[in-house]
Amino acid sequence: PREILRVENLVKHFPITAGMFLSREVGSVRAVDGVSFELNEGETLGLVGESGSGKSTTGRLVLRLLEPTSGSVQFDGQDVLALEEAKLRALRGKMQIIFQDPYGALNPRKTVLETVAEPLLIHGRRWGPELHARVRELLELVGLASYHADRYPHEFSGGQRQRIGIARALALNPRFIVCDEPVSALDVSIQAQIVNLLQDLQEELGLTYLFIAHDLGVVKHISTRVAVMYLGRIVEIADKAELYARPLHPYTRALLSAIPVPRPGAGRERVILQGEVPSPINPPSGCHFHTRCPFAVAECRAVDPPLREVAPGHKAACHLVQPQTAQEGPRGP
Ligand code: SF4
Ligand code: MG
Repeated sequence: PREILRVENLVKHFPITAGMFLSREVGSVRAVDGVSFELNEGETLGLVGESGSGKSTTGRLVLRLLEPTSGSVQFDGQDVLALEEAKLRALRGKMQIIFQDPYGALNPRKTVLETVAEPLLIHGRRWGPELHARVRELLELVGLASYHADRYPHEFSGGQRQRIGIARALALNPRFIVCDEPVSALDVSIQAQIVNLLQDLQEELGLTYLFIAHDLGVVKHISTRVAVMYLGRIVEIADKAELYARPLHPYTRALLSAIPVPRPGAGRERVILQGEVPSPINPPSGCHFHTRCPFAVAECRAVDPPLREVAPGHKAACHLVQPQTAQEGPRGP
């Protein structure tokens, strides 16, 4: 498999200002605080965390819809953060995003035809039979071909609107798509349809996804690997099967405890989350998770645990995780 995306030590701090004319910087929101991962072509990395964990910000930074404070993003051998405007625009066609809110993401005054054609027009295509044919082809790809392209978004259901958003994202033949909670706003009965559609499109078009979600249930089927974020950092990343079978970080285990287990007693000891996610403005010292972790020891409050490989392809950021040895696999606290 060929690496298509490499993200290294990505940081986004939003300054907080106070005083007259908001001239004094009094702190910063550490929205993304040193995130690194790689993605191979055709793969789906599920990026999971509670709201405020920095997952959407990470998605936007990777696409450079937001300028990072520091870090690097390599896409297909290009340094995304160093590209000048014209080259970035060309690259944008190859990297797309699907938004969470299919109601807010579409312009209510534009027809489906105009909505799906827009990225093509921006990239220099002209109205004409060819463009109409391309839009038709895109609507077919997402299962909307039987609807009139001159209808407006309000005439469609949430699931159909998300299909329109997907057709639009596919218009420029992207290779990589950030799916930012694409099913979170949809009825449960519709969610599987959209996830299946994304999966079919991935196979058909060879797409690579960064699939953002707030719980581990949603990404279980579509992901090849899964990363868990907490307060701006990845705390665990592993192949999908490994992560669900052998979660090591207490936070991952807490998130998994929230998913109903089909066979009671089959899972490991449950970790129940206490309290709320602390503010990213002044995140806790040491391990960001220590204020909610049932296993926290003194070291956790003082020393920030690095994300380290504890088994092949399996990384965790916790002082109490024991790396794999010749005798036994890695162990969590
Ligand atoms: Fe819990 Fe400490 Fe591990 Fe952080 S480092 S997850 S506080 S045991
Ligand atoms: Mg979000």
